[in-house]
Amino acid sequence: MSDLRELYQELILDHHKRPRNCHALADADCDLEGYNPLCGDKLHLYVKMDGDKVADIGFEGSGCAISVASASLMTEAVKGRTVEQAQNLINNFRDMITGNSSADPSTLGKTAVLAGVREFPTRVKCATLAWHTLRAALDGQHEPVSTE
Ligand code: ZN
Repeated sequence: MSDLRELYQELILDHHKRPRNCHALADADCDLEGYNPLCGDKLHLYVKMDGDKVADIGFEGSGCAISVASASLMTEAVKGRTVEQAQNLINNFRDMITGNSSADPSTLGKTAVLAGVREFPTRVKCATLAWHTLRAALDGQHEPVSTE
């Protein structure tokens, strides 16, 4: 188990140091800001749609390692997915991070490395910020998202 933990830790640190899709999209169809006042994590999410597919996604932000790594892993996981698939992923991720037993980890891919966050209740909002913001963006919301 400790090996697995180390591996998870490494992947999270890697996504924190070199976040994927960490840039604005000039031609985004929607963009939305998210904020986690509990920790001070800030995120600006950009989504480019192609029909009902997430053609491209990017983010800019500043925050703790968990929030940046989660945003990075989230963008990798949803790029190329349909809105419905992305929403399923958001639901499964939320279930996993809140310890809901109905979570299906097999659908979560690499984002499952964040499962350990559920043992640290004060960090859960860091991990879910990007996902909350994505859900709101897909719902067509324009008001900035706050995890509080
Ligand atoms: Zn945080």
